[in-house]
Amino acid sequence: MPDQVTVRTMDTLHAGQTSAPETFDSVDPATSEVIATFPVFGQAEVNAALEQAREAAHWWSGLGWKDRQTRLLAWKSYLTRYIGRLAELVHNETGKPLADAKMEIVLAIVHIDWAARNAKRVLSPHRVRPGLTALNQAASVEYVPLGVIGVIGPWNYPVFTPVGSIAYALAAGNAVLFKPSELTPAVGGWLVSSFAEVVPEQPVLQLVTGAGGTGDALARSGVDKIAFTGSSATARKVMEACAQNLTPLIAECGGKDALLVGADADLDAAADAAAWGAVSNAGQTCIGVERVYVVDEVYHTFLEKLAERMTGIRAGDDREANYGPMTMPQQLEVVEDHIADALARGGRAVLGGMQSLHRPYVDPVILADVPEQSTAVQDETFGPTVTVTKVADMAEAIARANANRYALGSAVFAGNAKKAMAVARALRSGMTSINSVVAFALVPALPFGGVGDSGFGRIHGPDGLREFTRAKAITRQRMKPPLNLTTLARSDKDLNRLLTLTTLLHGKRYR
Ligand code: NAD
Repeated sequence: MPDQVTVRTMDTLHAGQTSAPETFDSVDPATSEVIATFPVFGQAEVNAALEQAREAAHWWSGLGWKDRQTRLLAWKSYLTRYIGRLAELVHNETGKPLADAKMEIVLAIVHIDWAARNAKRVLSPHRVRPGLTALNQAASVEYVPLGVIGVIGPWNYPVFTPVGSIAYALAAGNAVLFKPSELTPAVGGWLVSSFAEVVPEQPVLQLVTGAGGTGDALARSGVDKIAFTGSSATARKVMEACAQNLTPLIAECGGKDALLVGADADLDAAADAAAWGAVSNAGQTCIGVERVYVVDEVYHTFLEKLAERMTGIRAGDDREANYGPMTMPQQLEVVEDHIADALARGGRAVLGGMQSLHRPYVDPVILADVPEQSTAVQDETFGPTVTVTKVADMAEAIARANANRYALGSAVFAGNAKKAMAVARALRSGMTSINSVVAFALVPALPFGGVGDSGFGRIHGPDGLREFTRAKAITRQRMKPPLNLTTLARSDKDLNRLLTLTTLLHGKRYR
């Protein structure tokens, strides 16, 4: 049982070293108590882990689809059976309520299951039509593992978020070096230990612990791809580090998701979703609802309903609290600044305000009439606050929602399904849910990822599996070619036949 993080202890990591190894503590954000101490991996330790991972990757990719599937399903089953223990660690390191931690783990389980069951279908060799000019060829494409993937994770969903990369990278046949956030290393360690319980033969999934320096070392180590999840500012640094070895990168970054409410929307459902989307996980959700745009006719009714739902909701560490503390102390400054900026620019607090901050907690804040240039509208707040803005119509709502450098998720509430689909398509974001929030994250077959400052690349679904592979194209000549084209003995006759065929196939006028 991985109660303790036993994957790489400080003794094994620094064997033979005379000076004391550098360490860091993981801390309970509600009580400031130290939970556990972890080694800081430097470049040498990361490189050593990569060397082991190369061997493990060779073994893992050689297992084949069926064996990998069985082992990944065994991992999923293990997480399901020990969900309570993992949830407790998530609660201790992030402060989120146990129930929310369990919900997060369930989502991760669903993704492991999907990746395990679909990897072969998506990635194994597929025949493609060779086309008339290559009729004598059998053509196929297959997706081969890249080798070793470096996964750098955030702290806000320390299970669901990294597993969205880890499960898909493993299912595609890669080994993984996982650097969890320095705020949640015990959760990361538990994930790695639990995988080692079901795959004991080789270190297919390894833990590397530390803060930004360790992440930087991983990005420079020569892994075959980095799957980074975190802030846009850090993604820029990671991209620079990856550039040294031309290491490809997936960047899953921050968001400033908008929820749009049309005149024909179910306002109760919209208010309920906006409230949950804004405050769950203390607002520390990349796809949380940070902005709401409501058409004029229903603005006041919606605002009333939203305030009603959020009244009495509060942060705390007791069982009755709706959500927990801010996990990262520095984020409190950002939340405070955004509220202050919104109020200073003429916005009004419909619920809460500056008094909602009582460190390390923040109670819900609804801000209305906030100018668009305010930081509360432009930048990622990552706290339990939401701005609500009146717009003339859905066209204005779309324009305002799209006028942001972030573009991760979004939501539309509208009665008319056809119109709602048109709005969803017009929104510049990687994902949109209609008449609900974050539903796209619950569908493992759907890709997940951003646009602009929210990043690039996709995790989850078939696109998420292909991210951790390279496409390999193969042609096999089945018979002698009707035209002898790829030979020094090509005749004028062959070329003329090719040109005649090309004219017949492609020479038709279209306009
Ligand atoms: P962060 O950028 O501070 O850290 C993310 C990870 O990067 C951590 O493991 C950290 O140690 C590491 N890191 C820091 N500096 C590094 C460097 N120079 N090189 C390599 N790695 C480095 O982000 P965070 O505070 O942990 O997470 C919150 C952010 O993550 C928010 O912006 C949130 O929106 C975003 N997020 C995005 C998604 C998504 O799927 N798009 C999901 C969850 C969180």
